Amino acid sequence: MAAPKAPQRPTAAKPAAKAKPKAPLASANDSSVAVAAPKRTIALVYDFDGTLSPKPMQEYSFLPKIGVDAEAFWAESNRIAREQQADPLITYMHLMYKKAKAAGVRIDRADLVSLGQDVELFPGVEQWFDEIARYIEIRAETPAGSPGVELRHYLVSSGLTEIIEGTRIYHRFQNVFASEYWFEAYDLPYPKRVITDTGKTQYLFRINKGVEDLGQTINQHMPEAARPIPFQNMIYFGDGDTDVPSMAVMRKNGGHAIAVHGGSDGGKAKCYDLFKAGRIDFYAEADYRRGSELFQRTCLLIDRILANIRIDEEIARLSR
Ligand SMILES: [Mg+2]
Repeated sequence: MAAPKAPQRPTAAKPAAKAKPKAPLASANDSSVAVAAPKRTIALVYDFDGTLSPKPMQEYSFLPKIGVDAEAFWAESNRIAREQQADPLITYMHLMYKKAKAAGVRIDRADLVSLGQDVELFPGVEQWFDEIARYIEIRAETPAGSPGVELRHYLVSSGLTEIIEGTRIYHRFQNVFASEYWFEAYDLPYPKRVITDTGKTQYLFRINKGVEDLGQTINQHMPEAARPIPFQNMIYFGDGDTDVPSMAVMRKNGGHAIAVHGGSDGGKAKCYDLFKAGRIDFYAEADYRRGSELFQRTCLLIDRILANIRIDEEIARLSR
């Protein structure tokens, strides 16, 4: 069998959907290379299903709309994937529309986006973004003249971009990396981008390196000092086995990870296993309200990140 050809890279990368501020890159000729410029951007990165929302996002309205029982759907999807040795995520994306077609229900991109409004969020998620910003504002005692600290939120999900776009929190994210469909190419919508458990880690490196335009390759070497958001300024939030590759990447690179659970014994046991295995710094119930254990533990990690930024700032000041 002939080896597949390497995909041709487009000559001009398309601009990213949202304009991102470009962090200045460290100069290779900088004589004070020993002291990297302090990196003042903090990134909180979230899984979606089970982390920000109690159930997989397809269960709130897509599956009910086509008259399909959620449990039976996932069982069938996983069985087909196993039998066909297919990727489970491509399989579910395919099966969803096959079932919709069989039910005579046509769901286009706009329909899918509008389904996002039915997605339930864990308590406090909607207020979380402002509350964490407020906490950082209080704690980041940056000296006069310092540019301060920037907080960003990112979503990396195997769920569907279209549904996430319709949720009430979509505008809170600097960028959303999730699976997505082509709608115009085929009889059935076709996967445009599929984000698998291990594939999620690519997006952590994109955030770390500031290469968020998916038209640009992520594989080029970039020295640590040139990366705008070091892993130590990042916290990953996930809820289980599908997050293990991302948690491992975070922790091995000096970053942080928190596991959340929905309060069930099974969920708690899963978190404890992750904790014992050293995959995470902390775990807590998925209660995002100010004062909750999750809020407090997140703030502890933020305190550590802020202290590191201040230390780097002080060292940079002394070495001027
Ligand atoms: Mg999840």
